[in-house]
Order: sequence, then structure tokens, then C-alpha cells
Amino acid sequence: MSIQQIDNTYVAHTYARFPVELQSGKGSLVWDVNGKAYIDLGSGIAVNGFGISDDDWLNAVTEQLHRLPHASNLYYTEPCAKLAEMLCTRTGMKKVFFGNSGAEANECLIKAARKYAAEKHGPDCYTIVTLTNSFHGRTLTTLSATGQDHYHELYQPLTPGFAHIAPGDMDGLRALAAQTKIAAVLIECVQGEGGVVPLDRDFVAALSDFCHEKDILLAVDEVQTGNGRSGQLYAYMCFGLKPDIVSTAKGLGGGLPIGACLLGEKLRDVFAPGDHGSTFGGNPVSCAGGVSILSRMDDALLAGVRERSKYIFDQLTGAPGVEGVSGLGLMIGIKTTKPAREVVAKCIENGVLCLTAKDRVRLLPALNIPMELLEKAVAVLKEACA
Ligand SMILES: *Cc1c(COP(=O)(O)O)cnc(C)c1O
Repeated sequence: MSIQQIDNTYVAHTYARFPVELQSGKGSLVWDVNGKAYIDLGSGIAVNGFGISDDDWLNAVTEQLHRLPHASNLYYTEPCAKLAEMLCTRTGMKKVFFGNSGAEANECLIKAARKYAAEKHGPDCYTIVTLTNSFHGRTLTTLSATGQDHYHELYQPLTPGFAHIAPGDMDGLRALAAQTKIAAVLIECVQGEGGVVPLDRDFVAALSDFCHEKDILLAVDEVQTGNGRSGQLYAYMCFGLKPDIVSTAKGLGGGLPIGACLLGEKLRDVFAPGDHGSTFGGNPVSCAGGVSILSRMDDALLAGVRERSKYIFDQLTGAPGVEGVSGLGLMIGIKTTKPAREVVAKCIENGVLCLTAKDRVRLLPALNIPMELLEKAVAVLKEACA
């Protein structure tokens, strides 16, 4: 059997895979088993922030792999402490909990918000408000947080304690707050899986004011938008927010599994020993990767993200077959006249890997993709859209 046949036979059918078997990669180039090269505009879904096997990252994680690949969380290790320090210094947040994925980062966020609200406002203050069309993960609780009914249908009963309002619906939030005690509001500044849709700035500002006024925790899911993707270190910075709690994952480890929940001043001491944990969370190898990534995410790198973003917007806006371009930084959605999956298939044929989100083509290139590769890939994409 071919690898594709073995996979189809033995791997659970949770993914609609494209018929491509990838074998190796470097930077923004990736090769399949037949030696065909592709320009990568997906970065493993916003994971390989500095491209595939970036040299500094590779050195950092291999060194750590040889020195100490795993230790339990009963002992101190340098990469975990260093990465937490960097995250707090760069954001003003106070403490970090490490897990292994975006869903786990959000699980921690939800537990922290519930514990804080129960202790501060009483046991009936547990409702977390999220937005329709949001995406917060695949565990049962983060699925319950996700404001898309079609993910819920076959998994009843869901975790109680979540309510959803439409993006922009401040009246809906006020009406809800009049009936129900709200512990937290959780948003993605740009809805990623929901079609790469940035939230309206006035709505975000009104939401933030409302939360501060009512002592409701403001929580931001930066799993996809974080770690330079938006053109700022975290997308909430583009919106001038001061969140109480932030989750992040995907790009943080530069290619290895990691998730982090950043706790602000109010939640600094919400957890005591035994309240939460993870066997692999904060493991030295993923954290060494994170330190390598975060230490190079400086102003010049972020300016490069904004510059590449502008290039893509300029090239695609109004191009034949393109009905609209949305997003922020290097997280871009393209509404195409042709079905998005057809455009992506055409790109693959012509040596470019990109993604879809809802009815859109989604681009999440490496933050440092060389301009000449980006130009080539955008030309292929334009041709596929036309
Ligand atoms: C991908 C994603 C998640 C889930 O992350 P996993 O690592 O797949 O668990 C959660 N929230 C957002 C916004 C995401 O994009």
C-alpha cells in the first residue's frame, strides 16, 4: 500500500487531506516525496513562524534535546522559566501556565476565569461569553466555548456555562449581563477559523470598557493571531487592549507543540499547587524553541510582517476573481469567485501551499518569508483565482 492508502486505512478520518505527501522542508520551501517543491503559505497553520527548520531554532531545540529532553514539572528547568519571563516582560502579564496546545491554553484560561470569578463574585458567577463564528478548540469545553453550532451537534451535552453573542452586539451583551452573572468575555481579535475576520475596532473598544466597568475579565484567544502574526507581538496590541488573560500556542514554539496561558495582575495568584497541571506542559525542548523564536521577534521582524502584509493586500485587492481581502498582518483571507478549495487545489498543482477558512482562501506564510518567494507565490495564487 502507498503511504496515502495506509493513512486512509489506519488514521482516523478527522482531516480532509490534500493528496500531497510532504517529506522535507527548509524556510518557506517544502518538498513532497516526488521531489516537487512548493512555496509554503500555510506554515503548518501559523506554527512555523520563522519557516521550517529555521537554523537558530534548530540549534536551540537540538542542544536542549541532547542536554535534557524532558523533566517533570516537579523540578525547575531553565527554558521554561526563561520563556515565561520573556512572555511577561514583553506583555506586562504576570504569570504563565504552559500546556501543549491551543485547546489546553484555553482550558487553562477558562479554569482560571472560573476560579477567579467564583472566589470574587460567588459560585453563580461562571458564565463565559464568546462570539458567534469564533473558534477556541476541540476539547469538549473549548468546543462549548466555540460559537459555531455545527461543531456542537453530535457532542451533546456540552460543558455548561457558555453564552454567545454576535460580534458587534453590545446590546446583546448588556441584555445578557442584566440576567446572568458574567465571569469573562473571550474574543479572538481576528476570527481565524471563522474566515479571517477582524473584529470591529469600535466594538472591541466598547467591549473592553464594558468589561472594566463591570469587573468582567477580558480574555483574548491569541492562539492563531499571536506571536508576531498580526504585525504586533500579540493582536490585542493592535487594538490597544489590556486583557486580563491571554491564551496562545501555534507559533510560539516555532514548530513544536506548546500552549501558554498568560495571567494578568488580577489573576496573578489565582492558581495554587494542585489547581492545574500538565505532564508535558513547559517541557524544556518546546520552551527552548519558544525562547529562540520570541528573542528574535523584534521591531524589525514585525515591520517586515506589516510590509509583507501590505504587499499581499495590494496585489490581491481587486484582482480578477478576488471579491475581497480580509485579515491583519500575515493572517489573510481571500474571498474568491471560485470555490476556495478549488483555488487551493490549483495552487498546489502549481507549487504553492495555502489553506482555507470557511469560504475563503487563507494565507498564513512564515513571518520572514523571502520577498522573492512571496512574489512568486502570489503570482501563482492570482492566476488560480482568475
Ligand atoms: C487553532 C486554534 C485553537 C486550537 O488550538 P489547538 O492547538 O489545535 O488545540 C484555539 N483557538 C484558536 C483561535 C485557534 O486558531
